[in-house]
Amino acid sequence: MKKLIQLLSVLILFSCNNQSKKEEKMPNSPEPGCGVCYQYPQNSLDIGPEFMSTLEFKEKIEEDSLKVCSKCGAKWLGNSQVSDEDLKFKQSWETQKETIIPQNIQDTINSIGASLNWDYEEKKQLVPCKLHLKNGETIEFGAIMYSKSPPISYINNYKTIDINEVESISSSKYALSLEARLLAREASEAAMSFAPTVFKNKKGEKVVTNGPALFFKTDQAIGSELVPANERWSREKAKNEKFIYQNPSHPEETLVIIKTKA
Ligand SMILES: [Zn+2]
Repeated sequence: MKKLIQLLSVLILFSCNNQSKKEEKMPNSPEPGCGVCYQYPQNSLDIGPEFMSTLEFKEKIEEDSLKVCSKCGAKWLGNSQVSDEDLKFKQSWETQKETIIPQNIQDTINSIGASLNWDYEEKKQLVPCKLHLKNGETIEFGAIMYSKSPPISYINNYKTIDINEVESISSSKYALSLEARLLAREASEAAMSFAPTVFKNKKGEKVVTNGPALFFKTDQAIGSELVPANERWSREKAKNEKFIYQNPSHPEETLVIIKTKA
């Protein structure tokens, strides 16, 4: 999963956007605004009390307050900016019942094992797998994801498939074992957006995952063969030793979202 990377890139993008806005028009004093339209004062990137001060309460949606920015019209639900589609999705989610998982799929889920994602809100359990669809299609990079709350950011960032379209699931040779996933999830950041865990492939070569990886696929290594190398990655080591890294362009997971009890 690349949530952390995504979050960081959003933050970087956000600060770059604001920096370019700052160059266009540099107010002498802080100008109030929301996360979308806030303008930093000249020569400062500090966020003052003016930040998010333009939000006006619109309505209560479940436990969250929907607020609208009086300056730019952006909608905010809790700490997240939301679109009208997001709000529609959230409403339809609330009316849905808990997902019923067919027994054959449940048995495979149990044998593969679920691991926690890194998530800045609710922590979601994920089961990497191969999806066999009723229409005959096979999806190599699939994942069952349990969610208590409407997973708006996932819906916006991943392909999703309804469980009713899935005939069966099986383990993927590119998926990391439960043990490997649990270890990778504990990794701390060694560099910006980089939380490495060192594994070994069958040949004994060192393989580095980034964050809570579900899958690994390069020409030199695949997820299912990875075993812990019991060593730490460092910049120093990386200068002298060969490590195999995940190609960042590997396919994104297709998610099957399971609604669970809140
Ligand atoms: Zn705004």
